[in-house]
Amino acid sequence: MPSQSSPIYDRNNIFARILRGEAPCTRVYEDEYALAFRDIYPKAQVHVLAIPKGEYVSLTDFSQSAPPELITGFWRAVTRVAETLSVAGGYRIGSNVGPGGGQVVFHFHVHILSGPRT
Ligand code: 5GP
Repeated sequence: MPSQSSPIYDRNNIFARILRGEAPCTRVYEDEYALAFRDIYPKAQVHVLAIPKGEYVSLTDFSQSAPPELITGFWRAVTRVAETLSVAGGYRIGSNVGPGGGQVVFHFHVHILSGPRT
């Protein structure tokens, strides 16, 4: 089945700037595949964003375009973020895809939330 053409990645999006160290963040985890930091407008007691280090617009783009090693490494990092946060009671994850899905920042990211909604 033919894959969709890759969407255009804007290198000036805020998460790209955070990755380059040009914008601040409250980092909670980092490895070769991912960076995780606290959401600036938390929607739950714990609200962290995990982003891959490569240039992927969305979950769809990442799943279709990233090499398998990066996909595995990223999702393992997501679970390590949860361990790092010690969310003993559990957590939930989500990813908004596209404007219709509520995506505002067009660098693929996963929301990791735990505890009561704020
Ligand atoms: P989206 O709707 O694209 O899935 O979510 C983007 C998220 O990024 C939102 O939850 C928003 O609060 C968060 N966000 C936007 N700008 C910044 C920023 O400059 N720093 C941090 N830490 N989070 C941001």
